[in-house]
Amino acid sequence: MRLSAYFMPTLKETPAEAEIVSHRLMLRAGMVRQASAGIYSWLPLGFRVLKKIEQIVREEQDRAGAQEVLMPTIQSADLWRQSGRYDAYGAEMLRIEDRHGRDMLYGPTNEELITDIFRTSVRSYRDLPRMLYHIQWKFRDEVRPRFGVMRGREFLMKDNYSFDLDYEGAKKSYNKMFVSYLRTFARLGLQAIPMAADTGPIGGDLSHEFIILADTGESEVFCHGDILDFDGLGEGIDYQSDLEPVVQAWTKLYARTDDKHDPAVFEREVPAEKRVQRRGIEVGHIFYFGTTYSEPLKALVATPEDESVAVHMGSYGIGVSRLVGAVIEASHDEAGIIWPEAVAPFKVGLINLKVAAADCSKACEEIYAKLQEAGVEVLYDDRDERAGAKFAEMDLIGLPWQLVVGPRSLDKGLVELKRRAGGQREEVSLETALARLTG
Ligand code: ATP
Ligand code: MG
Repeated sequence: MRLSAYFMPTLKETPAEAEIVSHRLMLRAGMVRQASAGIYSWLPLGFRVLKKIEQIVREEQDRAGAQEVLMPTIQSADLWRQSGRYDAYGAEMLRIEDRHGRDMLYGPTNEELITDIFRTSVRSYRDLPRMLYHIQWKFRDEVRPRFGVMRGREFLMKDNYSFDLDYEGAKKSYNKMFVSYLRTFARLGLQAIPMAADTGPIGGDLSHEFIILADTGESEVFCHGDILDFDGLGEGIDYQSDLEPVVQAWTKLYARTDDKHDPAVFEREVPAEKRVQRRGIEVGHIFYFGTTYSEPLKALVATPEDESVAVHMGSYGIGVSRLVGAVIEASHDEAGIIWPEAVAPFKVGLINLKVAAADCSKACEEIYAKLQEAGVEVLYDDRDERAGAKFAEMDLIGLPWQLVVGPRSLDKGLVELKRRAGGQREEVSLETALARLTG
């Protein structure tokens, strides 16, 4: 992509309304625009990142055996009356009336709708287990939308739902999602810690929030410091195997959100020097809720003994749009964003320092063509601008690599390769630079 033709309305000034760094940087880098309170338009640069995160989330859901569907954003109020949540949900639900006077709503979540799909299609234990997910916009009329996409009113969520015959089956599905979340966040370049979360009236211990530690986070969390040294999960997980040991390993040390925190247990189980009390960003939440919805909505299946029982369910959310902000909170410096390679909008920023010089432009065009041929995503700054402005903007948008082509080095057959993270620069030959970036 040529920057001269790219729609990337960056801002020089720091927008006054933005309280936290990710919000400031997203506005300054021209990634999003606020449409109204807590509602954002995604501009090309931001949209590319959103799509990359979405794709990684999708791949890890698929790998764990979940199947993708797409449910609508607008739902009928009737189902929510059946589950008893229509009134209970309160002011966070955006209620709409259609032209026939029917009550509709903009879905804040999808337990009712997915249970309805299930109950009209599945009758027998033979059709279990199943996991169905979608990646769809949600609306919650938050009292205080803030921090940009971190707490929006309209936001993109991946929500998966599991269906099992009994608790034992549901626990297996839960473990699959637990592991899949570890993998997902590791691939996104994030250290997300599973922390025991409130289970409400359901009880039990099958609720975990995945938390990224950050001072700007809205959750107060408590954990054993050793968890911070755990490695995310690499490749090679067999989802058909028993995942309980993995889950045990990750949950044996104290790690709890505010709701679940118990100072007495914390002090008993965690030595003073290991006690971590921090703020964090909730990027995912997995939850077993048993028959909470299948009972009122009558999602019943026949057991092998031909008894009819309510199906056991769980739900598993990831805040896809919140993650764009969360990644930036976890990875930035004074100059701007530092994208982890997996979610970067482009891998390379190619900077032409002297557009008017024929040899510079020729070399840039050649590099640009070769990188594209090799399938490397490159943003080529071909504008006639001051070098300082180009560097500042490239640092701001945070692409992992910068390839700088200027007349002085080029005379010696060299270009400059800069790593955005860490800022190391190196003068190398054109061939070496290309080999590095395409390797
Ligand atoms: P929170 O405690 O932050 O309000 P929640 O517990 O209500 O979130 P869930 O219902 O568990 O949220 O939703 C699943 C995921 O969706 C959350 O883990 C979070 O990453 C994301 N999410 C929830 N609310 C918002 C929001 N207002 N804006 C952006 N993302 C959100
Ligand atoms: Mg939650």
